[in-house]
Amino acid sequence: MNSVKLVENNICTGCGTCAGVCPNGSIEMECDKLGFVYPKVSSSCIDCGKCLAYCHAFKNKKTSPLFTQKCYICLSKDKKLESNSASGGFCASIAEFFIKKLNGAVFGCIMSEDFTVFHAEIKNTDEIALMQGSKYIQSDIKNTFYEAKQYLENGRYVLYIGTPCQIAALKSFLIKPYENLYTVDLICHGVPSNTSFKKYIEYLNKTGKEKVKSYSFRNKTGFDRTGYQAKIELKNGKRSYIKSSEELFFSLFSQGKIYRDSCYNCKYARPEREGDFTCGDCASRNLYKDFMPFEAASSVVINSKKAALLWDKIKGYFYFRAIDLQTEIKLNRQLHECTEKPEDRDEICLNILNGNWDALKKYRKKPAAVGLGKMLMSNIPVSVKRKIYNILKLKIGKRS
Ligand SMILES: Cc1cc2nc3c(=O)[nH]c(=O)nc-3n(C[C@H](O)[C@H](O)[C@H](O)COP(=O)(O)OP(=O)(O)OC[C@H]3O[C@@H](n4cnc5c(N)ncnc54)[C@H](O)[C@@H]3O)c2cc1C
Ligand code: SF4
Ligand code: SF4
Repeated sequence: MNSVKLVENNICTGCGTCAGVCPNGSIEMECDKLGFVYPKVSSSCIDCGKCLAYCHAFKNKKTSPLFTQKCYICLSKDKKLESNSASGGFCASIAEFFIKKLNGAVFGCIMSEDFTVFHAEIKNTDEIALMQGSKYIQSDIKNTFYEAKQYLENGRYVLYIGTPCQIAALKSFLIKPYENLYTVDLICHGVPSNTSFKKYIEYLNKTGKEKVKSYSFRNKTGFDRTGYQAKIELKNGKRSYIKSSEELFFSLFSQGKIYRDSCYNCKYARPEREGDFTCGDCASRNLYKDFMPFEAASSVVINSKKAALLWDKIKGYFYFRAIDLQTEIKLNRQLHECTEKPEDRDEICLNILNGNWDALKKYRKKPAAVGLGKMLMSNIPVSVKRKIYNILKLKIGKRS
């Protein structure tokens, strides 16, 4: 046997590269009984081994890069880009730079109106909004590897942003390195399936008074800039903001209950990264309280010489500060180890697929009773808190 039949389900990330490169059309991507896509090799397979040769999961891990990585806490200076972004808006801002300054092609993840999550080219600056925000679902890479390759061959700059396994899959597909390719890998603790998310929307539609128009995982408001709240917009225009722990799907995601099998065995959850840049939610944020207080911030790791040269050109777009990489690695679990597979994971995924939501409600936290002090604090707009903070800082500074 010389095909991806040799790739165990617990390492296959479902990138679909094998199906695309098979010269005989013998591989199709199919959903398993838990809703995750895997390649199915048909009896027409000629055992040529091409699929295996392109499979990033089947290859051994690379050795550590020679480049000395650098790490920054950062926040985009562009208020609009920053506000709509998951953390500090690094991805949105670098995407804008590629489109505006380099006439580059940018690839990122979007969610369609029917709640399918997939990768697509972001064709202009207006479309950046589509890729902003984290969609905590496996993104179907569709034809983007082929489109990116075409642009690279034609000498155009390409920026590809995705999970580390997607970046590894892209590089494995391209075979040779391209000087005009830049990649950003997201710090990643795992992905639920598109099927399970669609089942969830179906459930909300069935049980709610009105159908869901849109769902987004990370949202900032004037009262909470951390972004750990889902926004659900109904067809009648009503919007609700729900804390991640109190929103059922988000909560299952955050607890690591519904990921793809390969995520519990992820070889990319380590300090040596796949992308030129790595971006995530800055886990050592609390150690830099005086850096843009009250705002979420990205941590950005520079992983290659090429990225370091680009960072020098784009750093003016950000508020940033160099931070200790080892501390960030220690505090951000997915930079050193992957999520453990919970015993009830399969059962939960099956319950989702069978629409057995009553059995799952226990995974959502009930809104906790908050003390008066905390309630008052959460009702003060961040802009006011910031003013008070600046006045206090000034007074303390004068006294000392
Ligand atoms: C599945 C997933 C798990 C994550 N887990 C962690 C974690 O454990 N720890 C941590 O520190 N950070 C994690 N992140 C990263 C974090 O949520 C932010 O995406 C990151 O900080 C970038 O923020 P930003 O403000 O620069 O992005 P934005 O400017 O908001 O842009 C978001 C970028 O993310 C990409 N993207 C969105 N959804 C997906 C997806 N499903 N697949 C591939 N790419 C996607 C978009 O293409 C876009 O480029 C995760 C992200 C994802 C998608
Ligand atoms: S990781 Fe990608 S290329 Fe490898 S078997 Fe899975 S879908 Fe195919
Ligand atoms: S946890 Fe690993 S395998 Fe899973 S989506 Fe993230 S990078 Fe890919």
